[in-house]
Amino acid sequence: MPRVRRKAFWGLLALILFTAGIIAHLRRAAPIRVVSFDETAGPPAQALEVSGPLRTEPTRILIDPGHGGRDPGAIGPGGLMEKEVVLDISIRIAWHLRAQGYAVSMTRTKDEAVALSNRARLAEEKEADLLISVHVNALPVNARPFVETFYFQPRQRHRYRRHYAPAQWEAKLQTADRSRRLAEQVQQAVLAEVRAHNPEVFDNGVRTRGFRVLRSVSIPAVLAELTVLTVPEEESRLRDDAYRGRLAEALAAGVQAYLEEETGHTALSPDEGQLWMDTEDTASSVWAPSTVGPSP
Ligand SMILES: [Zn+2]
Repeated sequence: MPRVRRKAFWGLLALILFTAGIIAHLRRAAPIRVVSFDETAGPPAQALEVSGPLRTEPTRILIDPGHGGRDPGAIGPGGLMEKEVVLDISIRIAWHLRAQGYAVSMTRTKDEAVALSNRARLAEEKEADLLISVHVNALPVNARPFVETFYFQPRQRHRYRRHYAPAQWEAKLQTADRSRRLAEQVQQAVLAEVRAHNPEVFDNGVRTRGFRVLRSVSIPAVLAELTVLTVPEEESRLRDDAYRGRLAEALAAGVQAYLEEETGHTALSPDEGQLWMDTEDTASSVWAPSTVGPSP
């Protein structure tokens, strides 16, 4: 090859490699496309089938995607942010639970900041029966990824006790046991799903921690750390819609297993569905989008 053509060849090759590198980087760093959630919709008619004693209204589940707005949460090595991953997964969890006949609301449905105190207050305002806070972990470089689920266990001489009125404290003690059972079901279901994709992932188990979002509510509440975003393989898996969908399905199945164990119900009766529709005015005033997000 003549010298000039050889130079041109190497120049072109360098340009191609450089462009390919930039494209690969952009693809890796691109945000995921987060799914959306219709806050005002109710459970679908086909979910309204009975298999247990009658209830008067559907169980209300508040899903809390962690972080949001200026708080990105954990950030993966490729730039994927916890706040977007958990929002997408949370909305998918909401879809699944709603399809099973549960009434579902969320502390945020978009990328916005919600104060921890407001997340807990929303649970009270919306008269939620369960609170599920959804997170993905951050770990030091080269740490082996794990799954863990937290709940709050108040103790008699616990320093948090002073934050509660005596009746609230009593309710908290009674609720802690239910939170633990909920955490166990969620942990088991999520771990099985994550491990199916990565057998390296280990079980860090159900743990107690006084996270504000957990200790400030008097309903069964858990905080799930689904996997570890800062591990490169997990980050690239979390970029996949199908994987996020499966994590959501697993978590929803864990919640459902808990509810079935607790109540003996698997879904709503058509009558109950009707009742839910009849009381939609009341329901939507509590579960409407305007009440979601930080209060002024
Ligand atoms: Zn988090």
